[in-house]
Amino acid sequence: MENYFSSKHKKIGILGGGQLGKMLLDVTRRYDLYTKVLDPSADAPCSVGSKEFVQGSFNDYNTVMAFGQDCDVITIEIENVNTQALKDLQAQGKKVFPQPAIVELIQNKVLQKQFYIDNNLPTSPWFGFKNKAEMVRKIEKNSVQLPFVWKAAVGGYDGRGVIIVRSKADMENIPDMPGLIEELAAIEHEIAIVAARNEAGEIQTFPAVEMAFHPVANLVEYVFCPALLPDIIMESAGNIAKNLVEKLKIVGLLAVEMFVTPKGEIWINECAPRVHNSGHLTIEACITSQFEQHLRAILGFPLGSTQLIRPAVMVNLTGEEDFTGPVLYEGAEKMLSLEGAYMHLYGKTQTRPYRKMGHVTLTAETLEQAREKGLKVKDILKVKSI
Ligand code: ADP
Repeated sequence: MENYFSSKHKKIGILGGGQLGKMLLDVTRRYDLYTKVLDPSADAPCSVGSKEFVQGSFNDYNTVMAFGQDCDVITIEIENVNTQALKDLQAQGKKVFPQPAIVELIQNKVLQKQFYIDNNLPTSPWFGFKNKAEMVRKIEKNSVQLPFVWKAAVGGYDGRGVIIVRSKADMENIPDMPGLIEELAAIEHEIAIVAARNEAGEIQTFPAVEMAFHPVANLVEYVFCPALLPDIIMESAGNIAKNLVEKLKIVGLLAVEMFVTPKGEIWINECAPRVHNSGHLTIEACITSQFEQHLRAILGFPLGSTQLIRPAVMVNLTGEEDFTGPVLYEGAEKMLSLEGAYMHLYGKTQTRPYRKMGHVTLTAETLEQAREKGLKVKDILKVKSI
């Protein structure tokens, strides 16, 4: 048995030191695991709470190689990392989870879509291209009608590599780079399921959540758990997530985002090989949190129960539109008077419009009550600057 539970022994390296890493560290500290985090920013959320913090780029081959040398297990909290270095660290015999080849596949939306097709997993109709000229040729050849969705093959994050193309004028705004276009889905619900798999092949899925997006920022504004959809849809969504995890043979967490259409069809939108915004409420709402589950999966421990204890709503705390500078959480004290409100502040010193600064999870007897409290949080707590 590997001895992780003593700070003198196995070292866990984490690429990325943002809020996701910070919440992983809550669990590594509880388990007394030795952690080392790499992030370019000296005051990243993980600069407090990790045993060792290294300032440097997780995109740079040499930096990641040097970082990984004294680690026994290496994981990520962001997928935009140097996968060649991770492959070479794996070749040196280190455990790298999720596996670098899977991270590489998911980094590229064209490869990701092709994987769904090759494995008979449902997704919106699409095609890929290497540049804009090829895109235009294919649009004409296939008589593609407006509206449709354009996505960058790589580099998209939080909606930034996505353009909903509704008019000829929108076509002008499409950059000349590799990407894909896909059918604009009639979305009735956007749901997500966080699944986990360990090396032994054990798989567990968290209850499905429903996400509500901010109309301007294209960021998740609320997450609701459980998603109140018919059992038959929930069952198929669960099976799709399990199937994807099984086909990828990923070790660690996989967050699977899906669209549910008015006809009850389910299309995979995209997946992320890591802990995910849609799973934050598992900290308070489920027996095991997504963060603990990820560590259990990558360290070869038994997976924990994902059972929901109480309905929950997560409210993302993002920077208000007109404020940039040192952060001020206006109304935070008042908000804490709500019963069952769990505040998470990520420790970022500077706010800017729509920057993810924290979140609040509300639990209650019913989802409706949790939702009402969530709306109150939005009213009371504002992320501004001094
Ligand atoms: P990112 O990788 O930046 O998170 P996504 O692919 O998740 O980008 O797209 C961001 C949002 O854009 C989605 O959550 C959804 O609301 C909308 N969107 C993406 N693809 C489609 C589609 N095919 N049809 C309709 N809306 C879409």
